Amino acid sequence: ATPMALITGTSLAAKKGLLIRNAEAIQTMKDVKVVLMDKTGTITQGNPAVVDTNLDEEVKKIVASIEKNSNHPLAKAISKISEKYLEIKDIKEISGKGVIAKYDGKEYFVGKPEDYSRYETLLKEGYTVVEVRQDSEIVGYIAIEDPIRQDSKIAIENLKSLNVIPVMVTGDNEKTAKIVAEKVGIEKVHSQVKPDEKLEIVRKYQVEGNKVLMVGDGMNDAAALKGADVGIAIGSGTDLAIDNADIIITKEGISKIVDAIYISNLTFKVIK
Ligand code: ADP
Ligand code: MG
Repeated sequence: ATPMALITGTSLAAKKGLLIRNAEAIQTMKDVKVVLMDKTGTITQGNPAVVDTNLDEEVKKIVASIEKNSNHPLAKAISKISEKYLEIKDIKEISGKGVIAKYDGKEYFVGKPEDYSRYETLLKEGYTVVEVRQDSEIVGYIAIEDPIRQDSKIAIENLKSLNVIPVMVTGDNEKTAKIVAEKVGIEKVHSQVKPDEKLEIVRKYQVEGNKVLMVGDGMNDAAALKGADVGIAIGSGTDLAIDNADIIITKEGISKIVDAIYISNLTFKVIK
């Protein structure tokens, strides 16, 4: 491409709320065939709220205090289940899984349930369920609702009309993933995906001969953002995601991907 075209594309994009970190990305956009999308914080607002929990007050306080130290979108919601906080020092975050902490001689885990089947009713509502364990014993759950971004559905419709295949890639469970996917019109879903597997999925679609775009917001998306032909991070996401992306969405949701494809087509397909 001519440098002029790259500059034109980049400034057009900036006006649309897209920060281009790697100018070549805007050129690659026109050839993208598959868009892999993270769910939590990408298709959804990443502004979740706790809608139900069966924890007692003391455990709520401990759990809220643990999650206060995490940047995960779910953690922000969970930290609000108590108004009082304890000082907890020994905290370890496991990307895509949850948090482990020691308090008062006991070990606490807050995160992904090992067995989702006991939470069927909550999952049917499309809630994300987080489990709390005390020394490996389940003490309760927290059900969280994360509204879908207002532009997600239209963005996915537009992608399809451009012959781009939208695919959901999420660490969340199958039921919640499918309900959210159905609401926005995504047919292809990879759920229960571990952070290192997100990159493997990128590779799988690349090996099939597709230019792959990955969009995400979390630290568990970083490797996939880097490995994709184009990586797009949500601006409100974690630093690690932003550092590994070619493009950053500075104003709201995934409809910006469609804008980027239009800009790429406009700038590079016409000028040959
Ligand atoms: P996504 O890929 O949709 O953005 P993540 O991979 O970040 O989702 O998270 C997957 C699952 O791991 C969540 O649904 C939740 O069960 C659990 N999890 C991850 N981080 C946390 C945390 N800080 N607190 C509680 N649960 C967490
Ligand atoms: Mg996410």
